[in-house]
Amino acid sequence: MQRQVTILGAGLVGSLLAILLRKRGYAVKVYERRPDVRKANIYAGKSINLAMSTRGWYALELAGIKSKLQQIAIPLYGREIHNLDGSTVHQPYGSDGQAIYSVSRGELNKVLITEAENLGAQFTFSHRNTKVQLDTNTITLLNENNESHSHQADLLIGSDGAFSSLRQELMMLDRANYQHYYIEHGYKELHIPALANGQFALKKEALHIWPRKNFMLIALPNVDGSFTCTLFFPFEGKPSFASLQTDSDIEDFLKTNFASAYSLFEDPINSYKNNPTSSLITVKTMPWVYQDKSLIIGDAAHAIVPFYGQGMNCGFEDCSVLINELDKQGEHINWAQLLAEYQRLRKPNADAVAQLALNNFIEMRDLVADAAFIERKKIEKDLMIRYPQQYKSVYEMVSFSHTPYAYALATLDAQTQLYQSIIAQGNYFDNLHNPSFITQLDALISNYDTQVKAIDIYG
Ligand SMILES: Cc1cc2nc3c(=O)[nH]c(=O)nc-3n(C[C@H](O)[C@H](O)[C@H](O)COP(=O)(O)OP(=O)(O)OC[C@H]3O[C@@H](n4cnc5c(N)ncnc54)[C@H](O)[C@@H]3O)c2cc1C
Repeated sequence: MQRQVTILGAGLVGSLLAILLRKRGYAVKVYERRPDVRKANIYAGKSINLAMSTRGWYALELAGIKSKLQQIAIPLYGREIHNLDGSTVHQPYGSDGQAIYSVSRGELNKVLITEAENLGAQFTFSHRNTKVQLDTNTITLLNENNESHSHQADLLIGSDGAFSSLRQELMMLDRANYQHYYIEHGYKELHIPALANGQFALKKEALHIWPRKNFMLIALPNVDGSFTCTLFFPFEGKPSFASLQTDSDIEDFLKTNFASAYSLFEDPINSYKNNPTSSLITVKTMPWVYQDKSLIIGDAAHAIVPFYGQGMNCGFEDCSVLINELDKQGEHINWAQLLAEYQRLRKPNADAVAQLALNNFIEMRDLVADAAFIERKKIEKDLMIRYPQQYKSVYEMVSFSHTPYAYALATLDAQTQLYQSIIAQGNYFDNLHNPSFITQLDALISNYDTQVKAIDIYG
């Protein structure tokens, strides 16, 4: 007999999983703390545009809704860097016209819930889980009138985000490990509306970045012609959220650092003052599963900072890996084994993407405008063209492939060593005219290839 599934949290990951499980005939109940996103504006001032990439699209395809979501996604073919002097530089994402896609979190969530509901998943909104008893799989739900009731789950899935209630209980188990870490930056949204003629005020098909070393502004397009902008800024110090006290502090700061965006912002001072300032957390935890009874997934298992645009993509990949493992089991499912395998496959990759995301903050806010970094990217691009079988950039592996994140992270060191060996020979592009350098380069690449092929991420 098939198990009944109870999902905590109707965010992106919980709703997608509800679709995938309904498609396999499981009865699915979902309890969500907040009101229904289709009826209430639950994302005020924190709308967030998400960059969807290959891993996310694959899971949506598995759920049969990729084409529906492509209609509300805008391709971004590269970064548009806005320098302090007003000049701009375009840095393509992939070697082959690849794109990541800007999607509104709210719209995506609405589509996922509606699809799951149409397939028969039962959603109960404004019900917060307050306690899980792991041995009996009993959850305690509190509704908006503070009335509580219990529900005994058969299979329990915690997709209840970075502060997961199921994870709280898993952390109490013997030998459970847990770590969380806030970076010193937070974020705040600002808005650039469409122009009067409905056109985009900035180049549409790019992720815009105003890198300013210790802080940055980014902007992603929406289908209505507007841009959602996010300021990533330290909480303390100078300048910081704490140091901008008056209207004129805010105006001076925004005008001085983001002149090309300032005139386009809608009501910047009031938006800055009224929109929430949110923090950014990384969560690492173990275990992710309990016997054959429960598991955590998405941000509940691995909240990460947003700088690689991979939090949701990683959560969606958790879903596709779990479902593919489930499908592999056939009719007689060994649930304890399935859950253990899911944890074995995902945990090292979640740890790796957490690190990649932290690294990428430095890249986005500082290095993208750095001459040495730009030179390295140019060389990397040339290596990808010359040695397409042996050399792929870490960005391509992460954003445009299913290469395990842990493998991508592990190649980073090998790539840095390779790069240092290459530039130790002098100017790369001048050297390319020299046949003996090409012979040397072939040998370096072959050595690199041997090194990365030996990487074993699952031990
Ligand atoms: C500024 C920013 C930008 C980002 N950009 C990107 C990006 O470009 N690309 C990308 O891939 N990712 C991005 N992310 C990450 C992405 O938003 C998350 O990884 C993703 O939303 C995680 O989905 P989730 O369903 O696991 O968790 P959530 O979206 O947090 O959903 C959890 C749900 O559980 C509910 N819930 C919580 N507690 C309970 C409870 N006790 N009982 C019942 N329900 C509960 C919540 O209300 C919520 O609806 C970004 C994040 C931020 C903050």
